[in-house]
Amino acid sequence: MKSRNPKPAILDGEPVFKKTVPIIQPTLPDAAELTPHIKKILKSHQITNASYVKKLEGEFARYSGARHAVAVANCTSGLILVLKALGLKGDVLVPSFTFSATVHALVWNNLNPVYVDCDKETFNVDLNDARKKLTKKTCGIVGVYIYGVPPDMKGLQKFATENKLKFVCDSAHAMGTTVNGVKAGNFADAEVFSMSPTKLATAGEGGIVATPHAELARKIRIGRDYGNPGDYNIEYVGLNARMSELHALLGWLNLKKLPQRVRHRNKLYALYKKELSALHGLSFQKIAAGVTTSCNYFPMVLDNEKFGMSRDALFDCMEKENIATKKYFYPAVHEQDATRAFHTKKNSLPVTEWLSRHILCLPMYSHMEEETVKKICKAVSRIHEYAGRIRMEKL
Ligand SMILES: *Cc1c(COP(=O)(O)O)cnc(C)c1O
Repeated sequence: MKSRNPKPAILDGEPVFKKTVPIIQPTLPDAAELTPHIKKILKSHQITNASYVKKLEGEFARYSGARHAVAVANCTSGLILVLKALGLKGDVLVPSFTFSATVHALVWNNLNPVYVDCDKETFNVDLNDARKKLTKKTCGIVGVYIYGVPPDMKGLQKFATENKLKFVCDSAHAMGTTVNGVKAGNFADAEVFSMSPTKLATAGEGGIVATPHAELARKIRIGRDYGNPGDYNIEYVGLNARMSELHALLGWLNLKKLPQRVRHRNKLYALYKKELSALHGLSFQKIAAGVTTSCNYFPMVLDNEKFGMSRDALFDCMEKENIATKKYFYPAVHEQDATRAFHTKKNSLPVTEWLSRHILCLPMYSHMEEETVKKICKAVSRIHEYAGRIRMEKL
């Protein structure tokens, strides 16, 4: 058979890119845009938790419609503080198909994570499995927006209410996600967002806790400041999880550009799907009707037989094309050294284990060009076309 495409780099063809395409890259404002604000901050001598933190919180509340928004040093410390402030004790249902920090926040609070499997199509927490794992000791459930795609919010809210559970969301990927026109930040007792460099609106490092509860918001404000209500008679054991003014400035400027970034990413996401749809053995995350995702990542799932090689082999082939991809989330949290002890044999997680071995994320960032997406798809396509030869000669 005559090949349409030139040979892939793994077979000593010319790599599609000369310079490596990163998996993600933060989009940053010009120095000129920052400078007048930095001068103002320096002149004020207020370098942490002051007017720019308030600006950022105000902007997020306005954008999302969340009743209370509290800025913190990062999403992980935000999650730790939320669980602490809610006073949870016992078992918490949590997906294992997530980033490790989701579970770390529980462990730091002496809570016992009970891993719940994920859905094969949406990759989000599987409510049927959560029902099976519910016991008298369960006090809460954590939902995660996987790559920006929300879990079944209605289902989770109902499940939490019926069983008197606190419902917390790890919304690290969710800045810009909406469900039926309602923005992320309005669906749980608390949702915690990340502004780390791999997320849509970065503050360098940062996080935001969004909650409808005034008392919880008050506790987080105190908790990020050691637990100090103002008179140094510490109310509860908190953290130093304040955000500095320089971080808040960066986050604020980036947050203002969030809507256009979400639009552009959705365009890139659709283009990826269109360009890759003709290839056998690839499938994509199911996005429910009414959902707009932030498109924090572009994941695809490989059927080894149909695609002609494994996820790990494709990862290696893409590296040779100078394209960074990410095995994400892999290993799953219950398979990591730090958190495997919470996993019990009888609590099986077949979908999580399968998915984490078959999923690969392709580059996605807010200033990425459509042409780059097309070239990446070209690389995937030629690797697929030559899969048989690659198997024989290289694997
Ligand atoms: C990035 C991320 C976190 C951690 O956020 P930080 O701001 O870096 O603490 C937590 N959960 C998920 C799903 C993430 O992707």
